[in-house]
Amino acid sequence: MNEINNNEIKSILFDLSNKFILPMYRNLKDTDVMKKKNNDLVTSVDLQVEKELNNILCRLLPNSLFVGEEKFSNTPDILNSYLEQKYCWTVDPIDGTTNFAQGKEKFAVMIALSFGDQILQSWIYKPLTEELCCAIKGGGTLFNEKKINIVSSLSIDKTKGSISSKYWDENYINIMQNIKSNFAEVKSYGCIGFEYIDMANSVRDFAVLSKLSPWDHLPGILIIREAGGFDSYFDKGMYNHLFRKKNLVVAADRKLGNKILELIKE
Ligand SMILES: [Mg+2]
Repeated sequence: MNEINNNEIKSILFDLSNKFILPMYRNLKDTDVMKKKNNDLVTSVDLQVEKELNNILCRLLPNSLFVGEEKFSNTPDILNSYLEQKYCWTVDPIDGTTNFAQGKEKFAVMIALSFGDQILQSWIYKPLTEELCCAIKGGGTLFNEKKINIVSSLSIDKTKGSISSKYWDENYINIMQNIKSNFAEVKSYGCIGFEYIDMANSVRDFAVLSKLSPWDHLPGILIIREAGGFDSYFDKGMYNHLFRKKNLVVAADRKLGNKILELIKE
């Protein structure tokens, strides 16, 4: 397979954004916002954008499979798509739905293309600023068409990042509270896509993650790796969407990542 052209994806995202996302921004009716079974919000825009991307991406790459956040809500079995020897798209139609529904600025559209356990390409698009961060396995990370590499991290007490606030097993709840004081700032954006872009741009340094839904992490993980960053499960090994495991540290570099893993173990 040839690489998927970044400009083609950008133009698809630009069009979807102008047609379905931006007209509804700060313009949603009560009936456009619903609660899913897991209590997360979903809007009519999430559903529409996912449906469009399902059609467009599977047409772009015939015989490819599609895993979408909203499709998963009703069809959890779609995660088995990753086990097939086929190209597979993973889509988060709106990452940061709560921000979007509240008219806040941090929300993104995220896409990844994988084959088996290999993440081949990924894209995170910010509709409001028309900015695109993308990566190709073995080919680096681009932000607005410019190659970026993570600048090595500062001493841990100067670093900024996030620690998931939910979904921890009981033994980790106190640990996560206690390690916060080691960092300069611990704050979530409510939009992991923005966090991944800021880590790739060396604006932030780490994320400590509990639940690992593939649409939340496939795109960003490739972007971080290709920009020179680090990721590891608490019990070692890099993120792999076939494992369906929890608990991951993503960091600007190995030194910081290992330091955070040590803090968690102490
Ligand atoms: Mg979403």
